[in-house]
Amino acid sequence: MCGIVGYVGSRKVSDLLLEGLFRLEYRGYDSAGIAVHDGGAISLRKRAGRVQELARLVDEQPVEGGVGIGHTRWATHGSVTDANSHPHVGGNGEVVLVHNGVIENHDTLRDHLQSRGYVFQTETDTEVVAHLVAHHLDERVKLGDDPGETETYVRAVEITLTELKGTYGVVALFRDLPETIVTARLGSPLVVGVGEEEYFVASDASPLVGYTDRVHYLSDHELVVLTPEKMDVRHRDNGRVRPSLQTLDQVADDTDLGEFEHYMLKEIFEQPKALENAIRGRLDEDAATARLGGLNMTPRQLRRIDRIVLTACGTSWHAGLVGEYVIEEFARIPVEVEYASELRYRNSPLSENTMTFAITQSGETADTLAAMRELQRKGHPALAICNVVGSTIAREADGGVYLRAGSEIGVASTKAFTSQVMILNLLALHLGRTRHLSFPSGERFMRRLRELPEKVEQALACHEQVKEVAARYHAFDNYLYLGRLYNFPVALEGALKLKEISYVHAEGYPAAEMKHGPIALVDERTPSVFVIPKGGIQPKVMSNLEEVKARGGPVIAIACEGDERVAEIADETIFVPYVEEHLQPIVTSIPLQLLAYHVALLRGCNVDRPRNLAKSVTVE
Ligand code: GLU
Repeated sequence: MCGIVGYVGSRKVSDLLLEGLFRLEYRGYDSAGIAVHDGGAISLRKRAGRVQELARLVDEQPVEGGVGIGHTRWATHGSVTDANSHPHVGGNGEVVLVHNGVIENHDTLRDHLQSRGYVFQTETDTEVVAHLVAHHLDERVKLGDDPGETETYVRAVEITLTELKGTYGVVALFRDLPETIVTARLGSPLVVGVGEEEYFVASDASPLVGYTDRVHYLSDHELVVLTPEKMDVRHRDNGRVRPSLQTLDQVADDTDLGEFEHYMLKEIFEQPKALENAIRGRLDEDAATARLGGLNMTPRQLRRIDRIVLTACGTSWHAGLVGEYVIEEFARIPVEVEYASELRYRNSPLSENTMTFAITQSGETADTLAAMRELQRKGHPALAICNVVGSTIAREADGGVYLRAGSEIGVASTKAFTSQVMILNLLALHLGRTRHLSFPSGERFMRRLRELPEKVEQALACHEQVKEVAARYHAFDNYLYLGRLYNFPVALEGALKLKEISYVHAEGYPAAEMKHGPIALVDERTPSVFVIPKGGIQPKVMSNLEEVKARGGPVIAIACEGDERVAEIADETIFVPYVEEHLQPIVTSIPLQLLAYHVALLRGCNVDRPRNLAKSVTVE
């Protein structure tokens, strides 16, 4: 996690760094800091809390200079304090750096450095890197390297990097090399922006928008030296390499809150539009199939696939579960959904014709990236279902499908989830049409997809009612979320939303599994949220609902419009329009997103920046 920004040039660097950190704050918001070189010395400003706190500090104690680095932290090692905030200082101040990632061998390195007299000021793994660079700098100079030469510093950083185990995106400033920053990556994303006699570096391209659209994404094991005049890219194994410059087509226009109080609410209401974008141009009327050119596979190749592995984390994993159901039902291909954090270390046998997909909103999720690379290492093409264009996973995948959901800024994912489910439906249609699915069935499938944005618009009409339900139920501390088949992943996702932003304990379960344990939790203080739209399984779920009622548990039901039978039994019934079962997750998750949102608000929680979380999980 964490957001990094750096700059060399002639702008007022503190303003630029703060602006960049505000844009990157979704990546972590435990603490923030900047370091600025004024040509003579490096000044540090850092503080626990949001970037806003840092901005206040910089306002009180301004820093001047045209070279600097900044960081917004998501703590992995060491508590959230002013001291543990980045940037960190190495040696006697000759090195100052920021870091995204985890240094796994920090203990050993710390012991080694302490035995050589280095004094640690913080509990972070990052400080080890700062002292290690200072140590190697010292060694280089003792060996005769020129302390005024850039190469001396680059060499010290390179040697340091060979000693680190773990992941890093690191950007360093040097006290005695005023016009230079050095940045390097292994596992954590970094992008360099190229301007006129100025360079930018950041964790993603958002801080560059409005300044430059020419970028170079760092690859693993790349190190880049930046001065106002030049950018020098080196690779650990290949020596000096040419930067691969790309043009950024990202625009920062959807970061405006508009009429909404929070990004989460804005993004919930953006879902009809996001879903339209997901299918735009992707429905092939003539062939009654989905057009997914980004898969880079011919029908013949697709026909050979005998197994699909979907890998993801968190909400994307829930979308993957829906994907399993829909692909198996319509394409008749066996699907497995694997937590990326497990898959990356497992050694599961995969047949030659296994197709693999990484599902991720940000395209930077560390575990998903590692799982994807592991699959590729074993010779499997790995595709991606991803939202952020140009992200690491999007760039490294062998093909895939973009969500086109627009920026998702609220930490709790909403529109990305429904867009992922939409894309997985498109995939099921596409694969199904290479196999069992007839032309008329394909046409019917497409008709339902086209109607969906309108159905979601209608589902959003439940907002006022959900608000009232939240007002009655927000004080409860335990919830059960129950659903079956396509609505089982919805139950998981609904429970996750509540946990994430309201800090209320919630368990998602397949409704029938409840009898095997969770039913013991049912009492009058534990509401059960039943996702119980019309469909073949509904009578069974109805029995589960009755079982909860019989034990005095309050029931909030998500049901189809006009379903009076559910309304008679449940304590609260929130109606959504009927859609076919394989598309129900997209509609039934709407009231659950709204419920989590309003419960969180009523409990006084920060909806867009929930504690302990970050939007993009770029550490293991
Ligand atoms: N491991 C470092 C820390 O805890 C960096 C975490 C991050 O990526 O924000 O400070």
